[in-house]
Amino acid sequence: MSEKLLFDRIDEPGLHTLEVYERRGGYQSLRKALGMSREEVLQHLLDSGLRGRGGAGFAMGKKASFLPRGTMDKYLVCNADESEPGTFKDRELMQKCPHMLIEGMIIAAYAAGANRSFIYIRGEYELQARKLEAAIEEARNAGYLGENILGSDHSLTLTLHRGAGAYICGEETALLDSLEGKRGNPRLKPPFPANQGLYQGPTLINNVETLSTVPHIIRLGGKEYAKLGTETSTGTKLVSVSGNVQRPGNYEIELGIPAREIIYGLAGGPEPGREVKLWFPGGSSSPVLTAAELDLPYDFDTMAKAGSMLGSGAIIVVDDSVPVMNVALKLARFYRHESCGKCTPCREGTNWTVKMLERIDRGEGTPMDLDILASVQEQIMGNCLCVLGDAMAMPISSLVAKFRDEFEEHMERARERAGLGAAPAVPTPAIAGATA
Ligand code: SF4
Repeated sequence: MSEKLLFDRIDEPGLHTLEVYERRGGYQSLRKALGMSREEVLQHLLDSGLRGRGGAGFAMGKKASFLPRGTMDKYLVCNADESEPGTFKDRELMQKCPHMLIEGMIIAAYAAGANRSFIYIRGEYELQARKLEAAIEEARNAGYLGENILGSDHSLTLTLHRGAGAYICGEETALLDSLEGKRGNPRLKPPFPANQGLYQGPTLINNVETLSTVPHIIRLGGKEYAKLGTETSTGTKLVSVSGNVQRPGNYEIELGIPAREIIYGLAGGPEPGREVKLWFPGGSSSPVLTAAELDLPYDFDTMAKAGSMLGSGAIIVVDDSVPVMNVALKLARFYRHESCGKCTPCREGTNWTVKMLERIDRGEGTPMDLDILASVQEQIMGNCLCVLGDAMAMPISSLVAKFRDEFEEHMERARERAGLGAAPAVPTPAIAGATA
């Protein structure tokens, strides 16, 4: 698919400035939107079928429609805390075309009836924060932000807020706490942010790519946009491809093309002589898929049916030169480090998982440990306050299930190196069963 929306001429010099962005037709969608009623703009978002590009994949228009009507203060928050390993698309968008995000935010705020907005950007994105700050200033001076934008009844403030570099602040309620000046811990839901979000007010939270898509939806019209992609995964998507590929980078694709076309066609596939062993379709928190699943259409529903998820759209490729144990350990250590510690299954489960993997890697493991490892992941999934626990448990669980033979071989070799000999055989039912 060749249609480009977000990345159309993204490398044009000076695109981050208002002058070049306007020359390219920038802020025309805002003018068009302000010529419509809020309800009409919202209808375009609903018609577009756009699903959130940050990870959850929830319909953006529907989310905006959940905000109550009325004259209370309402907020729009852009989640720019892009921290999922393997994901780096929002960084490029903010760096090269910050006005597209700002324009999308002004339109989305208009549709949702919000008059205060924030961009919460991860602390490490220093360059991108500076580009955004300059662009916000330009937009303010040009009358795109502030009171009565372009003579309309829509007013909006926009504040850039830098996080301090915690993965958990990408979770929307932890982000809100952090924005309020508290420690970034996830909140219990419900209430959901649409009803009680920032400063207890109705809040719409969307990801950078989602909001950057809004001007294109208004330009094309919601129904026309929905013709791109598949019926339930409309539009184009930025995909970050990393790992064992020859051309890692961000690519804009139409949803529904085969994953093979992305991994081999765009990213060049693994080095010659190497094969894909496994791939994460939606960032490090998605359950892994194998080479046998490379021809699946890359869209939200197909990835879910395959037992994984499209997530943030970050494909991490692992070839046959990489031991699966290394992948599991790196993942588990990351999530252990980033767990906020608020709930037990995640706090203890991530720690136990790392310890068990390290024990196996040191040569002290037995096949029973793999069963315990799988069982710990089962105990974590669905039992945590937020998705971080699952974010580790889902991929680890899939690695153990799909590559158990390799784990066992690794264990045997590690035991031999440690001089412990063959592992004693322990029947699986002793672990899985309830009898003592
Ligand atoms: Fe914190 Fe992990 Fe519980 Fe989320 S799942 S609230 S990160 S301890």
